[in-house]
Amino acid sequence: MPDLEASIVDDLIDETLVVRPVLTTAPLSTALSYLAPPELPPGSLVEVPLGGRMAIGVIWDGVGDPNIDLAKLKSIRRRLEAPLLPQGLRRLIDWTAAYLVVPPGNVLRLSLPRTVLSPPPRKTVYQSAKSYPANARLTPQRKRILATLANVPPLPAVEAARLAGVGQQVVRAMAQAGLLNSHEVSSDDPAEVMTNFKKPALSSNQASAAEVLRQRVCASAFSVDLLDGVTGSGKTVVYMEAIAAALSMGRQTLCLVPEISLTDQWLKRFTDRFGAKPIIWHSELGGAARRRAWRAIADGSASVVVGARSATFLPFKNLGLIVIDEEHEAAYKQDDGVRYQARDIAVVRGRLEQASVVLASATPSLETLNNVQRGRYGRVELPSRHGVAVKPEVDLIDLRATPPERGFWLAQPMVESIEKTLSAGEQTLLFLNRRGYAPLTLCRSCGSRVECPSCSAWLVEHRLNGRLICHHCGFSKRFPNSCEDCGVEGQLTASGPGVERVAEEARNRWPKARIEIASSDTLSGPSAIQEFIRAMLEGEIDIAVGTQVLAKGHHFPNLTLVGIVDGDLGLGGGDLRAGERSFQLLTQASGRAGRAERPGRALIQTHQPDHSVMQALISGDRDAFIDAETTARKYTKLPPFGRLAAIIISGRDSAESERMARAIAKSAPNYDDVRILGPAPAPIAQLRGRWRWRLLVMAARHVDVQAVLRDWIGETISRGGVRVTIDVDPYNFM
Ligand code: ADP
Ligand code: ZN
Repeated sequence: MPDLEASIVDDLIDETLVVRPVLTTAPLSTALSYLAPPELPPGSLVEVPLGGRMAIGVIWDGVGDPNIDLAKLKSIRRRLEAPLLPQGLRRLIDWTAAYLVVPPGNVLRLSLPRTVLSPPPRKTVYQSAKSYPANARLTPQRKRILATLANVPPLPAVEAARLAGVGQQVVRAMAQAGLLNSHEVSSDDPAEVMTNFKKPALSSNQASAAEVLRQRVCASAFSVDLLDGVTGSGKTVVYMEAIAAALSMGRQTLCLVPEISLTDQWLKRFTDRFGAKPIIWHSELGGAARRRAWRAIADGSASVVVGARSATFLPFKNLGLIVIDEEHEAAYKQDDGVRYQARDIAVVRGRLEQASVVLASATPSLETLNNVQRGRYGRVELPSRHGVAVKPEVDLIDLRATPPERGFWLAQPMVESIEKTLSAGEQTLLFLNRRGYAPLTLCRSCGSRVECPSCSAWLVEHRLNGRLICHHCGFSKRFPNSCEDCGVEGQLTASGPGVERVAEEARNRWPKARIEIASSDTLSGPSAIQEFIRAMLEGEIDIAVGTQVLAKGHHFPNLTLVGIVDGDLGLGGGDLRAGERSFQLLTQASGRAGRAERPGRALIQTHQPDHSVMQALISGDRDAFIDAETTARKYTKLPPFGRLAAIIISGRDSAESERMARAIAKSAPNYDDVRILGPAPAPIAQLRGRWRWRLLVMAARHVDVQAVLRDWIGETISRGGVRVTIDVDPYNFM
């Protein structure tokens, strides 16, 4: 497609241009009208004048505003050289904007990261001319070039010359003489070709699960299935068969994974299976890789894309399958900007694209299980672990009966089990989902607690680098010698454990054991993670003390004991999903134990052994636990039995934020079956220097919450330094 240059548009007589809607990435509530040629297809990327600058936009569907004053309309400036933004994605953007009550331009921005817009670098390639000019000389060197180019796609001069064993100037001279034709192509490497490379031998359960998914993909219609099986049952193996089916249908696959589990281990399994690497999409992708991936996805040459949640908005040309691994993960919910839940948006995308959706999890979300129960989603089960591996035995350690000694964190039964594991030459994972050394630093002299200057939160001591760090905003400072309140020296003491402190205890108890910490501090970046995994696999680590970076996805055959240091950590707070999430995380962490021949054991230290989460963990009765949670949600009319939306008002001036919050609450219309709670200061009342107030909208299922919010508040707005954010289906209540 040639560029439509500015001069061309200006030269066109007015009658040949028509009013077209153009959605720009500006935060406006609708597409704007511009004059554009009628033949430009919807989805074309264009540059348009907007407020004295140039903006990027997309020719949107439908017709422009018919009542608009033609004399005032501007023309689009030029078409950008880029693939079309496909129809399925355009509809998804409209749907998402309406559902989340945000400007569609904000959602478009998720689909059009800036770096993807620069055109790919070009290179000149040569092929032999259809017929040769009569006067052209055919030297032996030239004949070699012609022979080389006879059976291959057009090649760059350097490549053709190398294969023919001649100099590059020969190729150029032949082009001048009319013996070769040349044209320009993108110099990006094409996406790798997937093949049905190495199909594994599946167990009979796996084979029948794979067959169901294969049939869904081959039906080329919208479907959603939960792939439900314990950790290690072969869910990954099975969904890769669904990917194979999509490949054979010539349709693209999107595989969403929580960012954290996009590991080399996973990629290696993928390349072993398909003989080539998938396209990868995540937040740390460099500009050139991002552009290449985006274009290959849009032109259809990328057949499989594996990515973090932002991949939900990629421009697939021909999407046939969406896999969402670990579908219950809270990481699928984006918590700032456009607050979308990638799993839910991906299901909508499946419907718009007539694609199959597979949700994989050992601990599915309550929402998904409810959809299965109501018959909206199918369920494919993998009942047992693959091969000889059995589910780990889970036991509780009642910290009320056997507390650790003062200043220690491991209770006696835990210590004994670790010792047994060490002497058997097997590995232990001590799990504590808290980075650093201690979550709280107290002054013993005046009792003050060290807080973040811009958040209502304690600073966490990180002893490895001698700093105090805010886990909310990233603020950090050197660990002080004296208390900043009373000035007394040497009285600051650590309170509570983080992974560093548990590792310290383990080192003191077992000086000969090889102990490593695994958290996002020690394992920053893929190479550090890879090195850690290697050391685990090769038995160079006896005890790993880790946060959730270790809880997921990894497979360590010699790891037979998982010790949960603080099973109660996630249970507090007013979060409707606290119990569910705790259960999921602890199940996952426990599932790291005994994934091969050796049986595994998980030990959970808790003060609440009777809590439904602890009981569910020892009985392994997930469904009973979910049933009880479901009944509670039904009774309280919480999702999925009611609708929730949060309104967060924040600003640097505390009084102004409060005033705005109260004004919004006061202007709340009266609707049937809608309750509005608040305003109240957010549990983290100050975050990154902004004072925050919250309102919670609770509505019955039949209520159109979006209409209520639009009517009442309009879109997310900013006024005089105070920001009003709407969070539909909130996951974060802090
Ligand atoms: P899940 O995704 O349910 O946790 P995986 O697919 O990761 O399970 O399988 C767990 C382990 O068992 C992996 O190491 C995998 O390679 C192995 N495995 C599962 N099924 C098979 C099979 N049919 N053939 C060979 N290995 C398998
Ligand atoms: Zn902070």
